[in-house]
Amino acid sequence: MNKQKTVVMKFGGTSVQDSESIGNVINIIQKNKANKIVVVSAISKATNSLEEIARLSSQKKLIKAKAILDLLVKRHQQIINELVQNKIFNKAAQNKIKDYRIKILELITGVSIINELSLRTLDSFRVFGELMSSTVIYYAMMNIGINVELVDSRNIIKTDNEYSRAYPDFDITQINFDSKVMPLLKKKKIVLAQGFIASTEDGIPTTMGRESSDFSAAIYGALSNADEIQIWTDVDGVLTADPNLIKNALKLAEISFQEMEELSNFGAKVLHKNSIKPALKKNIPLRVLNSKNTTSDGTMISSRLKYHNLVKSITYKKNIIVLRLKPKEGLNQYVFWEMMFNILSKHKPQVDIMVSSNNAIIIVIAENNYTKIHYDDMRNEFKDISDYAFIKDKVLITIVGSDLNRIDNFEKRIFTSCPSIKAESIVFGFNQHSFSFLLDNRHFETTLKNLHSEFFENHNKRTKLFQRTSVHVN
Ligand code: ADP
Ligand code: ASP
Ligand code: MG
Repeated sequence: MNKQKTVVMKFGGTSVQDSESIGNVINIIQKNKANKIVVVSAISKATNSLEEIARLSSQKKLIKAKAILDLLVKRHQQIINELVQNKIFNKAAQNKIKDYRIKILELITGVSIINELSLRTLDSFRVFGELMSSTVIYYAMMNIGINVELVDSRNIIKTDNEYSRAYPDFDITQINFDSKVMPLLKKKKIVLAQGFIASTEDGIPTTMGRESSDFSAAIYGALSNADEIQIWTDVDGVLTADPNLIKNALKLAEISFQEMEELSNFGAKVLHKNSIKPALKKNIPLRVLNSKNTTSDGTMISSRLKYHNLVKSITYKKNIIVLRLKPKEGLNQYVFWEMMFNILSKHKPQVDIMVSSNNAIIIVIAENNYTKIHYDDMRNEFKDISDYAFIKDKVLITIVGSDLNRIDNFEKRIFTSCPSIKAESIVFGFNQHSFSFLLDNRHFETTLKNLHSEFFENHNKRTKLFQRTSVHVN
């Protein structure tokens, strides 16, 4: 007898943004006959709202903070009223949302008194997005008699205390999963859990980085030894470029783990960068699918590499800072390196590239909320040990594919299709899967368009890899 398959199905913010979308998601879940772990994000924009509430509270702007909270609560109440007709379930769902509202109000008061917002407190606000969405979805499923159990990811996924970008301890997490989630799956229950959120061993709420519900899905996939991890989103799959900038981007039928990891690391929002590792470790394929267009078979991400020597996608990262450091006169090079790494490990910026030439070092950092917090301190500390230059507002463009070094005239095609690159950029070649270069912000959109047309529109090989999509983002 065949072992019953297990799938993880993750639905992002736009897939659960309102009652119609949630109804549609529940249909998708019901159609799949495997054992299921369903991972959900907060409803769209909820995490942004919670961050805004936290910031306003720390600035004592309580009226504004509470107004945003009221809107957020109303959105959830409306979904409950539209989807949960059963009176008992409706009441239970509304009460739960009320409880969460009270807890957020307590946080608002606390933060406004201390007038300060730490990353730890910010995480305490953020977790409510997924707690509220999962509550609403749980009762919507109960309302139509689905055999579902709601699991609190804070009790399963245990992380370090790097608030805002916490990382799980897989051993402890596996023990929790085996004792708390496996029995539910064995009872054939659909397990519903929140993405993004977790907690430290002491039970303090953490989040694993913005957009990390994909990572949560991959974690649950690895924990359950799933057969497939499905990432349901609002585009047909992984595309040859960001469809917000390239309207005729094509869908990829498949892509390898390694290529996808590069694509995510270098900015493609469609999948969180940490999602590949747990899947790769257990060799579980990931599939990116469109919850608004279930006729598309999505993009399969796996260890299989069928299409070689091809450019597959082009991605970018904005708000890049380039740091050029040269040790202060008289400072021994090795002492300098030690001090430099100490500064980096203290402030923990997201270093994308580090190259050393002669005795100077170039570090490329993607600026985000976290680096902004430490930006001035980091700069002052580097100033003490080096002659330095901080160059801001660059864009890092990365071309991803397999065996790029074996593609005929690869570099030539890049430079001839985009003449502006030469003057403005520093070029780095990494491994055979990716090739990145820096560009001034003002040349970025034209360069992206030229590269897309060069590699996917003009010289497109006849292959089943690239497919037209019917659905485009607004
Ligand atoms: P979710 O809320 O479901 O997690 P996201 O907004 O995080 O969805 O990710 C999906 C979005 O990623 C798409 O709507 C698209 O705008 C963007 N995107 C950027 N680069 C790509 C790419 N190469 N392929 C597909 N989508 C991309
Ligand atoms: N809700 C979280 C965010 O908006 C996590 C996610 O959606 O992946 O960042
Ligand atoms: Mg996402």
